[in-house]
Amino acid sequence: MESALSQSLPTDLASRSLRAVWHPCTQMQHHDEVPPLALASGQGAWLLDTDGRRYLDAVSSWWVNLLGHAHPRINDAIKQQLDTLEHAMLAGFTHQPAVELAERLSALTGHALGHAFYASDGASAIEIALKMSHHCWRNQGLPGKQRFVGFERGYHGETLGALAVTDIALFRRAYEPLLRSAQLLPSPDERLAAPHEDAAAPARRALAALDELLQRESHAISAVVVEPLVQCAGGMAMHGPEFIARLAALCEAHQVHLIADEIAVGCGRTGSFFACEQAGVWPHMLCLSKGISAGYLPLAVVLSRPAIYQAFHHPDLERGFLHSHSYSGNPLACRAALAMLDVMESERVLERNRRLAQSLTAALQPLARHPRVRHFRQRGMIWAFDAGIDDPAQRATFARRTSQLALQQGLLLRPIGTTVYLMPPYVLDDDEVGLLAERTVRVFDAAVGS
Ligand SMILES: *Cc1c(COP(=O)(O)O)cnc(C)c1O
Repeated sequence: MESALSQSLPTDLASRSLRAVWHPCTQMQHHDEVPPLALASGQGAWLLDTDGRRYLDAVSSWWVNLLGHAHPRINDAIKQQLDTLEHAMLAGFTHQPAVELAERLSALTGHALGHAFYASDGASAIEIALKMSHHCWRNQGLPGKQRFVGFERGYHGETLGALAVTDIALFRRAYEPLLRSAQLLPSPDERLAAPHEDAAAPARRALAALDELLQRESHAISAVVVEPLVQCAGGMAMHGPEFIARLAALCEAHQVHLIADEIAVGCGRTGSFFACEQAGVWPHMLCLSKGISAGYLPLAVVLSRPAIYQAFHHPDLERGFLHSHSYSGNPLACRAALAMLDVMESERVLERNRRLAQSLTAALQPLARHPRVRHFRQRGMIWAFDAGIDDPAQRATFARRTSQLALQQGLLLRPIGTTVYLMPPYVLDDDEVGLLAERTVRVFDAAVGS
């Protein structure tokens, strides 16, 4: 019966996937019309499907493949680690990759932050930071500080704790009754400025709301969590570094932790290694994931200030931060991260990215001037613009239509609502910059029907 059934169905990879795999962030029924694309391999900025067609990965595979696919130096580093120590528990034991990565990340903050706490994904990093914040206050005799503050349009992952500080209705609505209530303040998104206002007006409103909240209730508030410079999943909503600087000052003044979620914006994405560097401040805790292992293996890191760490350092077991995770500090993932840091430093990638960003911005000028484009914007290695579409039905299908049109042009794009963005790997050559711009223009023209 079983074998008769499977013989009667197509056996190509996409069909098998639809029978066996529950894909993330997907209404599976949409795949009845368009199946998932079956990939065979990756090389640099390109992905290859099982028919040998090539796709320029303009979103670094959900923002993780910072240095492209199959980078020789990262591949070699992982192979060497594989033959040395593939994994060991990190409670009671330690190893070179975990130590070296923690030391190097701390050095990148000028040792303002340290004691890397390891996890495997972004949402877990946020859970860890939230738990660490409250537990820290508890250890310091302030157990009433239990609430968390986030911003509208913020995204911090989709486990229940992280979802509580996330403001994406699509991801949140069904689980609302399960979530702890968090306070969401207005977004600093520059696009929210009224025509007569300057771009920083929304940031000022967010800060005024926070100031008021903290004056009233800081005794009950544990931490504020923010994506510095760009709220990515919320539609590549950008704000200036002065917002982060003033946010940090307010948190400091009111005895509230600042958690910087640099899961998407860290590792050079906004131009500096950490986005917070541009604001000249360090948060109490900083979360990294996504690009930290260059898209090779699941890894997340929470860095904290020495004072946070000290609040847990005590003879009593229960005052310790006992959060346990089986794969914490996995040597292969840490080795991939170290190789990523090596490439970033030895190839002066941040410097190279500044030139790359200039040439891609120049190549994208047809879009910046396009009559159907709203809010063309760029920060570091992130470009975004909104499609001016009035018809609600067209707006609703824009993202999916555009992704499909892009694939037909050999381009991997994944718009968020009506926001088209590029977050390419840091390895594009001049030809690829040209191709990326050309294809993006062509796809957008087709998508808006001009
Ligand atoms: C992706 C993302 C997360 C969640 O990371 P996962 O690894 O997908 O759990 C959290 N915060 C931000 C800013 C992100 O972009």
